[in-house]
Amino acid sequence: MKEEFEVPFRSDMVPAKLELGSRIQFRCHKGISCFNACCKQADITLTPYDVLRLKEHLGMSSTDFLKAHTVPFQMDQDGLPGIKLRTDEDGACLFVTEEGCSVYKDRPTACRYYPVGHMAMRRAGVSEDETHYFLVTEAHCKGHEEERELTIQEYLGEQEIAAYANHNREWLQIMLKKRSAGPSVGRPPESSLQFFFMCSYDIDRFRRFVLSDNFRNTYDLEDAVYKTFENEDLPLLQFGYKLMRQVFFGERSIPEKDDAWSKRVEERQEVWEARRQIEIARKQQEEDERYKKV
Ligand code: SF4
Ligand code: SF4
Repeated sequence: MKEEFEVPFRSDMVPAKLELGSRIQFRCHKGISCFNACCKQADITLTPYDVLRLKEHLGMSSTDFLKAHTVPFQMDQDGLPGIKLRTDEDGACLFVTEEGCSVYKDRPTACRYYPVGHMAMRRAGVSEDETHYFLVTEAHCKGHEEERELTIQEYLGEQEIAAYANHNREWLQIMLKKRSAGPSVGRPPESSLQFFFMCSYDIDRFRRFVLSDNFRNTYDLEDAVYKTFENEDLPLLQFGYKLMRQVFFGERSIPEKDDAWSKRVEERQEVWEARRQIEIARKQQEEDERYKKV
């Protein structure tokens, strides 16, 4: 059995499989008749690294960026949360201007790949993913009629894909593994989906979570590591991937404090007791109201 996923493109077409050395005919430039046509009908799925680059470019926190510039969607039948770039009501990307993309230097992965699609596959019993490529040919895109031939590898080099591919790879693997575990375990609890959302997209909220006393009481990390997380996004994002693997798949790569488990049980007991008291008080108040009416 083969598991596969596809980010950033979803397409109804069944395209020919291409490799890095395959040659394509394509050129996109400002003078082309369809300039900006693709950005005016944008359906852009964002990756965690896209969010980092864009929120940095716009000088916003990840939480504000998510609110202002994204819309949520479900990536699979288990409700795994994904985000897309917000568009105006006609479907145009909010970053497109007459001059082109206003965030070009930090444009998302999907915009860089277009019109090349890519697909990662993992064969049963094999730990390495295979990546295959395909060409998306849409009628509005005249770039395919331009007289320029180059390999997929050359095209991806022009688009400076390498950093994006590196920083997205581990996250894509987590998605793939979560999907393969999906149907047999049923829909994951809401808290687990929210945890995936926070670790994946909301780096500033994740930072507050990691720097909280609760977290420090649970995990055994050096002060210098917390200092790095305070100031840098990328190491924190990588740590988020590690933490997701630990929480979702039981990998034990982040050391936990010896008494963490018993402390957590103690804390939970306090919470349960507090809830029980609130429920008793609520019931008592209902009874009192009833007697008053009688
Ligand atoms: S981010 Fe830039 S390249 Fe991507 S759809 Fe928007 S305007 Fe176009
Ligand atoms: S050539 Fe294709 S990618 Fe370039 S602007 Fe036109 S529609 Fe967009």
